[in-house]
Amino acid sequence: MLKCIQALQPFCNHARRASPIWRAISMRNDFGTSSDDDRPGDHPSMSGHEPAAQRLMQLVAAMRGCRLCVEKPQGAPLPHAPRPVFQLSVSARLLIAGQAPGVRVHASGRPFTDPSGVRLRGWLGMDEATFYDATRVAILPMGLCFPGQDARGADLPPRRECAPAWRDAVMQSLPRLQLVLAVGQYAHAWHVPRHLRGRNLTETVRRWREIFEATDTGGKAAVIPLPHPSWRNNAWLKKNPWFEAQVLPFLRRQVWRVLEET
Ligand code: SF4
Repeated sequence: MLKCIQALQPFCNHARRASPIWRAISMRNDFGTSSDDDRPGDHPSMSGHEPAAQRLMQLVAAMRGCRLCVEKPQGAPLPHAPRPVFQLSVSARLLIAGQAPGVRVHASGRPFTDPSGVRLRGWLGMDEATFYDATRVAILPMGLCFPGQDARGADLPPRRECAPAWRDAVMQSLPRLQLVLAVGQYAHAWHVPRHLRGRNLTETVRRWREIFEATDTGGKAAVIPLPHPSWRNNAWLKKNPWFEAQVLPFLRRQVWRVLEET
């Protein structure tokens, strides 16, 4: 993982931004949201997780300074300054693996501060205080920065540079993780084993129970595949009522089981 960080150093303005980040880290021992403002909060227990906490500290500092999509893009560069948005802590039990920040989240610097977040919290039966409690809930989109929009005003897909650069290292630095919510097709492609995925998003979500049971092995975090909560999926939700009737009650039970074990 350190090799990964070293290899990416030329694309990070780490040196410019590291000091306040490290000050915040030393105060809090967690990484909260990626907003430039530090939030007050209780320190999570690091007992037994110090090496993972150190690794995550280095990783978070490097991610916050990442300029890969500007300085060495695959295709067109990011059309604006990078602003990675995520929420991480070494003590997190639940990971929400989303798609990429939209324009509102890009502006706020806080994950899911948009109608998708309202719907997602409704699906989970979770208030904002719990959702933004970084000591329990990690939020890591497949692309950490807002990717921009196409000519019709639709958000572009997550930057393809991002997950290969950071994702494995982050996953290895979350030792208490019990459950991953894979939100949308890009998260399915990364977090759901290939042999369990369907031919499309609907087929993959339909296999939610099989995927959960196959990944709930005790060694790694279990995975539940979900559609994206965007309003763009209203028609999908209407067409697939089994999702709200069958998947959501199970999802809530699993989420709260994991969080209450903390
Ligand atoms: S999208 Fe990811 S890889 Fe690209 S600049 Fe942002 S953090 Fe770096």
